Parts: sequence; structure tokens; C-alpha cells
Amino acid sequence: MAGAVKTTCCYCGIGCGIVVQEDRNGQLKVEGDKDYPVNKGMLCSKGMNLHYTVMDSSDRLLYPEMRANRYQPRKRVSWDDALARTAAVFKTLIDKYGPDSVAFYASGQCLTEEYYVVNKLIKGFIGSNNIDTNSRLCMSSAVTGYKMSLGEDAVPVCYDDIELADCILVAGANPAWCHPILWRRVEAAKAANPQLQLIVSDPRITQSSALADVHLQVMPGTDIVLHHAIGRVLIEQGKADHDFIKQHTSGFAAYRETVMQRSIEEAAEICGVPAALIIKAAGMIGRARGFLSMWTMGLNQSVKGVHKNLSLINLHLITGQIGKPGAGPLSLTGQPNAMGGREVGGLSNLLPAHRSLENPAHRKVVQDFWGGGAIPEKPGLTATEMFEALESGQLKAIWIMCTNPLVSLPDAKRAEAALRNAKFVVVQEISHKPETLAYADVILPAAGWIEKEGTMTNAERRISYLDKLRPAPGEALPDAEIICRFAQKMGYPGFDYASPAEIYAEHCQLTKGTNIDISGLSYEVLKAQRSVQWPYTGSSTQRLFTDHRFYTPSTKAVIHSFPDENESEALSPDFPLILTTGRIRDQWHTMSKTGKVGKLKQHIPNAFLEIHPDDAAARNIAQDDLVVIENKRGSVRVKAQLTSNIKKGVVFLPMHWGKILNSDLQRANNLTSNLVDPLSKQPDFKYSAVAVSRYEKP
Ligand code: SF4
Repeated sequence: MAGAVKTTCCYCGIGCGIVVQEDRNGQLKVEGDKDYPVNKGMLCSKGMNLHYTVMDSSDRLLYPEMRANRYQPRKRVSWDDALARTAAVFKTLIDKYGPDSVAFYASGQCLTEEYYVVNKLIKGFIGSNNIDTNSRLCMSSAVTGYKMSLGEDAVPVCYDDIELADCILVAGANPAWCHPILWRRVEAAKAANPQLQLIVSDPRITQSSALADVHLQVMPGTDIVLHHAIGRVLIEQGKADHDFIKQHTSGFAAYRETVMQRSIEEAAEICGVPAALIIKAAGMIGRARGFLSMWTMGLNQSVKGVHKNLSLINLHLITGQIGKPGAGPLSLTGQPNAMGGREVGGLSNLLPAHRSLENPAHRKVVQDFWGGGAIPEKPGLTATEMFEALESGQLKAIWIMCTNPLVSLPDAKRAEAALRNAKFVVVQEISHKPETLAYADVILPAAGWIEKEGTMTNAERRISYLDKLRPAPGEALPDAEIICRFAQKMGYPGFDYASPAEIYAEHCQLTKGTNIDISGLSYEVLKAQRSVQWPYTGSSTQRLFTDHRFYTPSTKAVIHSFPDENESEALSPDFPLILTTGRIRDQWHTMSKTGKVGKLKQHIPNAFLEIHPDDAAARNIAQDDLVVIENKRGSVRVKAQLTSNIKKGVVFLPMHWGKILNSDLQRANNLTSNLVDPLSKQPDFKYSAVAVSRYEKP
């Protein structure tokens, strides 16, 4: 059926509006939605090519498949058989080993409705909190940082603050490649306002740092030292807002003592940047009328991720740069609906509407609302803990939805061993490409983008409605419907929704009276308004904390103090280089969608190692030589790219590539550290100790 729909891009957390049109021959055309406030008609290379991922259905999973045991091949089965067997296995395991013997591992690409039903199923009816998502790998340090400082996982700003700021600090991020449309707004704001000062901190020279007035090319792992040093300069130069600090924050005295412990020269030495540049950056922040910060994986994916977040948020709190136009912290989300997932409580330590698992009153509200069993107090397993528990045999079954952990989890060889050891693996996916499918006992084909309706929330709390344009191929079903059908097979009530709109209405009702209240929202409102920012009880909320009352019990924001030492894996004579991993412009996560678009492969067709020429020379490595990167966890073999864009002593690998022709030699996560932040449980993807050598044919 030919037609057109307005929807949202399903890649990054910027959440651009897209108009998709289908002609009579089923050919699709996409363009940026000119009326959408996020992108105003613009799309990046990934968004512009999104329709190709749907038009080419050669890789799509069309029917449920199942195998009797791991020595048998999988065979096509009916939905009824696939779900009946899965329910029977889950029931047997739960009866024998308890509810914590099963787990769901979902994705920041799931729609809010999908997140809602799977969270309700495991917490409210199975009786375990074993649900986590790949958002744990992306956002959990920011979530914990916001909660500890502002009292809630609540991004206080909006994208319109970009045009209103006169100083922007981009920390540990390359938005020119990873959040391109947001970056185009930064570029346009800078072109329109010569007063706008841009600071970028990143160990690499990138397209983003090229636009900066100050590039702080820090050594990996030194962000807290840098932020503390900037804080010290701000205090010493009289730029701290003492009225704001006194009235609206707590913890300043201890913070002041902490940041005064290191001289600027000492901090500069540790960070590997000139002291003058730190002072210059602090001066820009101190003079700003509106100071906005943006960050992503460079801070979040760290063994000190929460403290890195807090050290940056502290700069806003000591200068009063929050709760006003053009000012505040803006964590950029890697995935399109990581925030929507958190709204429904889709992490192992959360309940719907940001309620706390440890709060008995919160648990009671939710369990009474759902009408299932008691929700356990004990947090469930996080992403990496799930795979450790599979490896040890404590966890028996895992249901993986819309994510490819064999490429995206750290220490990938261990994740592979874990799945090999699992008693039962269910994979719910759209494509047969993801490497994880190799370990599935049951494969459930899912509908993709524009094949189902639902909602997502972007990085500025903007909830958008995604319309359905065409049917899913074969027997693929929307993810929410798959989970609801399974829940009914398990015999649970409350999953007989007539439509996604009914699921959404239930979610909205459960937010009533919370800080993220969207009880005034429905599909009708979203269809009429296209998008709104939460909280929404009748009108959209552009900014939070404009009254400077925070969501902490005292209403004061908390300035935290902590040591600045990094606790990543130690370098050694055997493994003397720091490996940092990241993303390239035209690929998305594990390439299960972008990898099938020819145009997107043209930018960078193969994985590579970025290495400083001095480090290369010391190892007799020339440009394009095949090199081996290794440590005690595994090895990677790719071509070397010599560049002084990276600091000496640091090497960079892109994270997208998985198995190619059965070889995993381009998979960066063969090498990444299995350390996690103790507070957020987010892995330390940005700092692993490795050795690099030229590949010699045996
Ligand atoms: Fe999609 Fe992000 Fe690109 Fe926007 S910036 S088109 S949301 S990938």
C-alpha cells in the first residue's frame, strides 16, 4: 500500500524526524522532516540511507526457528510451537532453579512499549529483576551521575540550548561523526555567533576537535583530573557562583578541598595537556553567560564513569550554569531509545517511572498496579553480570532482544564462552546477520523500523510517535507482541493488549505523580503534536530545574568529591599501550543494519588501527602494514593507520566489526577490559592494556 509516514530515525539518540514515502512499486524514499524541531529537515549519512535497510529484505528472518538440542540444526517451526517450547523450558528452569535462573537482555533500540512489557513480564510476573539492556554499555554512568547529583536520571536541557549557549564543552565525544545532526547545529550556532567558544576534550584529533577553540588532548583516563583542574581555576579566579552554591547545592567545601590538592601544573602533566590550555578553557567557562556541556562514551564507558560524569556536572553546579537557557549538562545518548527504556524501568536496578527497586513503597505501587506477584528487592544481573552468570552456570537461560552481544560486549571471547555454556538461548531479531544467532536454541523473527508502531524518547526527553508504513516480511511480529504472546503462554494475565496504544496508556498511567509524569500523554496527543518533552501533564517541558529546586530530598543539588586516580587495567612491559575503542561516521554499532548498505561502506570499508608514528616506528610498522594487537584476552589483526591525530602511547580501534567469514580478527572487543564502574556497572571500553606488533606470516 503506497503512502507516507512521519517517523523517527532509529539509529542514534539525537532522534531526527524522517518522512518516509512508499510508491506503488514498494520503493521507499526518505527525507528529513522539515517541521521537526530536532533536525529541521537535516539527516546524516546513516539517516539518509535508512530505507535501504528495510528495502533489502534478503537478510531478514522470516519464520521462527528452533533446534531440539545444540547438536541438531535449527528448523522452521510455527509461532505456537516456538513459544510453547520456550515457555515450557522457562517454566521448568524457574521451578527447578528459581526465577533468577532466567534473564532478558534487551536493547536501547527497542520501542518504549516493548521495554514496558518485557520489564512487566520478568519483574511483575516471573519474579526476578534479571532484565538489563545494552544501554548499560552506553548510558548507565550518566544515569547514576544524574541521580547522585540532581536526584533523578533527568537531562535538564534541550537541544535549543545549543543556539543559546556561549560556551560549549564537548567531553569524550566526537559528535561530528557519532551525532552528526546535533553537530551541524553546533557548527551553525558557531557560524552565527562568533562569541560562542567551543572546547573539546578528547585523546584524538577528530572532526569535532577541529572546530574547537581549545582542544584538550587528554590522555585516556584523566578526565577527572582535568575537570577538577578547571574547577580549581574557576574557584581561584572568582568565577564560582557562591550565591547559587549556598542556596541550591551541598558539598562545596569538600569539593574545594579536593580540587585544591593538585596544582594546575601537576594536573596538566597527568592529563598530557599544557596548563595554559586548561586555564584558557576555564576562562571561557567562567566568562560564559550560558555554559553547556555534552559528553558521551569517553566519560561513560569507564571504570570511573560515574565520577567522570559527576566531575563534569560539578562544573555546572559551582558556576550556577544549570536551569536556565543555554546552560546545563547534556549527556548524548548512543541509542535511539535508551531514555525510553529507563522511563519504563528497563534496567536490573530500576522500576517504572524511575522508581527505586530498594524502596518498598515503590515496589508496592508497581506490583499492585500490575497485579502479579511480589517484585523482589534484590537487583537483577547487569549486562556483563548476566554473561558471567551464564559462564558460571548460575544463570541457565537468556532471551536476547534486538542486540548483538557477541560483538558489543567487552571481552567478547568470554561472552562467547558464556553463551556456549547456557542451557537455553532465545534470540529475537530482525536479521540473520548478528553473530549471536549462532548460539540460539530458538530464533524469533521481529518486525523492524516502519513495520510497527510505538514511541521512543531521545536525549533531550523528547517522546516521538513512530508510525507503521508497511507489514513486516514473512511471519515476523512486533517485539511487544512476541513478548505478550509468550507471557500468555506462561499463563500470566495482563498481557492481552489490543494494540500498542493500550500498552502505552498503561505506561503513562504508571508515571502519574512522579517526576517524569506523562499521564497527560497518549497516542492521540503524540499524533497531533508529533513529539513532546517529559514531564507532560498537559504541556511539554523544555528545561528542568528552572526554579533551581532539584529532585534530591533537600531540593539541593549535590556537589560530590572523590579521588581523581584512574583504576583501569594497568599497563605493563608486555602490554604497554592504551587501547581505546570507538565509532566511525557511517557505521552503527555492530553493523547489522548499516553493514548491508553499500554506500555506507565506502567511507571506511575495513577495520583499522590508529597508531602514532613514533609508536609505529618503534615497532617497525609502516602505513597499511598488517598488525597484531593483543593482550591476555585475545588478539585482533588489522591494517595500521599511522597518524599523529592520536596521542603517543594510545591506539584506537573501531568497535563495529564482528565475525567476517568466520574469523573474528577484526572484533575490537576481543581485547577490551572486563572491568566495570562499581557504581554504574558500565564497562571500561576506553582503556585496555595491549601490545602491538607487525604481523609476520608464520
Ligand atoms: Fe539518525 Fe542520529 Fe543521524 Fe539523526 S544524527 S539522522 S538520529 S543517526
